[in-house]
Amino acid sequence: MIRVVLVGAAGRMGRAIEAAAAGAADLAIHARVDQRVNFPTGDGVWSDDIESVTQPGDVVVDFSGPAGARAAAAGCAARGAALVTGTTGLAAEDEAALRTAAKRVAVLRASNFSLGIAALRVAVRAALAVLPAGWDVEIVERHHRLKKDSPSGTALTLADDVRSARGLPAGALRHGREGQVGARPAAEVGMHAVRGGTWVGDHQVLLAGEGEWLELRHVAQDRAAFAHGALAAARFVATAPPGWYTLDDVLRGPGPRGA
Ligand code: NAD
Repeated sequence: MIRVVLVGAAGRMGRAIEAAAAGAADLAIHARVDQRVNFPTGDGVWSDDIESVTQPGDVVVDFSGPAGARAAAAGCAARGAALVTGTTGLAAEDEAALRTAAKRVAVLRASNFSLGIAALRVAVRAALAVLPAGWDVEIVERHHRLKKDSPSGTALTLADDVRSARGLPAGALRHGREGQVGARPAAEVGMHAVRGGTWVGDHQVLLAGEGEWLELRHVAQDRAAFAHGALAAARFVATAPPGWYTLDDVLRGPGPRGA
């Protein structure tokens, strides 16, 4: 039985993972970490201190915020627990904390745990491989009004895929447009973040050529899509040696490691 510590347990993703784990026979959530103000009343172990509830061999699953992800990384390294984190909007120092932890324990990070997004990334790379470099690429993402970071981590991952397929620098990313911006340069990846309502996650990659265009789109209707992927990742890191992993490693199964 895999013992899971859930960080951000009171949040939207925390509750989705709780529901998904309830139907799993091979893992159990034995502690929940969140900010004290968000502790619900009721049963279960709740803490605002990850180290006090984490034991060697546990798997910590984190969907909280940058500070929560940093604390989870430090706590996992200190206690000898593996980490799965889906928290987005991380700054360079948060990323560095995850990479430091990966020297001591297994750390798996993904900006999106849905299988459909994994397929979308493959489809985008395949489309770019056959289309001329003159086709313009724009990414449009939609999320609920409460989402804190923009653009989404998934949209940034898709943009990275496009930039690396086209050999474009980080500066090629263009966030929105306003005013007399002039003609669109070819070496640009447009990025547009729409916020409102209760959208769970919607990512469109638009490829526009002369007189035709192509849209590749993924829509997450329910957070269960991410929760099941996160639990698959938890099973993977439970037996993985220390190191840095991505969802590709889970999808590939045992074998050579991803970057
Ligand atoms: P949410 O605001 O509903 O929940 C976040 C929870 O984390 C809250 O209960 C909050 O109190 C808690 N938290 C914040 N800081 C904390 C800290 N320092 N220590 C402990 N707990 C802390 O947000 P959400 O919609 O559940 O999303 C959480 C994160 O997961 C966001 O970064 C979001 O972008 C990301 N996300 C990732 C995926 C994916 O597939 N990778 C999918 C959905 C959401």
